[in-house]
Amino acid sequence: MKSISEHILSWYHTHKRDLPWRYTKNPYLIWLSEIILQQTKVSQGTPYFIQFSTKYPSIYDLAFSSEDDVMKTWQGLGYYSRARNLHKTAKIITEQYSGHFPDSYKELLKLPGIGEYTAAAISSIAFDQSIPVLDGNIYRVISRLFGVTLEIGTTSVKKYFIGHAANLLGDLPPGDFNQAMMEFGALQCTPKNPSCDICPVKNKCSAFANDNVHLLPVTKKRNPLKDRYFTYYVFHDATHTIVHRRANDDIWGGLYEFPKKEHSKLLNYNNLKHGDDEMEVVDLRHILTHQRLFIRFIIIRQQILQKLEGSQQLIQLKKFDTLAIPKPIVLLSQKSLIWKSLIS
Ligand code: SF4
Repeated sequence: MKSISEHILSWYHTHKRDLPWRYTKNPYLIWLSEIILQQTKVSQGTPYFIQFSTKYPSIYDLAFSSEDDVMKTWQGLGYYSRARNLHKTAKIITEQYSGHFPDSYKELLKLPGIGEYTAAAISSIAFDQSIPVLDGNIYRVISRLFGVTLEIGTTSVKKYFIGHAANLLGDLPPGDFNQAMMEFGALQCTPKNPSCDICPVKNKCSAFANDNVHLLPVTKKRNPLKDRYFTYYVFHDATHTIVHRRANDDIWGGLYEFPKKEHSKLLNYNNLKHGDDEMEVVDLRHILTHQRLFIRFIIIRQQILQKLEGSQQLIQLKKFDTLAIPKPIVLLSQKSLIWKSLIS
């Protein structure tokens, strides 16, 4: 009789999606795919994987590119510290490991941006090491299969789940089995409306037997979103505008933006005074994982040299699109015909 793990592995061989990183055991490409897919849906991450692996076919290509170039390629994926760490790790591997990824889980953990999950994924998929992975999908599958009601989020609970994952992995092919568990969670044992009726392990599933699938896994309640209010001053003349590079200690670290002020509440439009300068105001709202941003752009045509401060720099309007910029600034060209015509 087949075990739970063998059922899930067979299911994977029949149902797995045809994804570009499934055709390789090259640790560089496996690493790229894992970093891109952290907190990103496969449908959103796949074009980025193709773009990165085409533009930087080897780790040397990535390491020798500029950070600005990597940030631009990453633009739109969010969590920009991942892109900075990607670049840092590529440099370390080329400089200290002669361009070869270390094959040990512990050595992988020393690299920027590689945590327990990514180290386990790379060492099992690229190097066939028998190390179980644990991501959100696998937490869910294990919770339901074994009726685990422990709240996810602490180190001791994580160890408990890793124990289950290791038992399930046993001596099966680790790369295939780890991917099978993730895929099973993503397609079969989904957060809402899992396909229990056609599930190959429903007869062995605790949650299905006890009719509490909808209650598992037990997760912490999310904190409410934090509201932030930004005003961007899009100073421009006929040829240039002003930008600066964001610091790395906040959202969008390393990306470029216009001069900005942050307020504790939305500014009253009537309070804006800019003399007789030509001006357009564009408002938009943008939701991030933990924050809700209320953004006001004030596009002002002025003599701009006198506006330059600190680390700000002038950029030609025609070259604006070459900068790595946050999503709301990308969206500005859809919201403002004036801005669109200036940069096109
Ligand atoms: S029976 Fe339902 S809850 Fe249990 S493993 Fe299958 S899909 Fe998940």
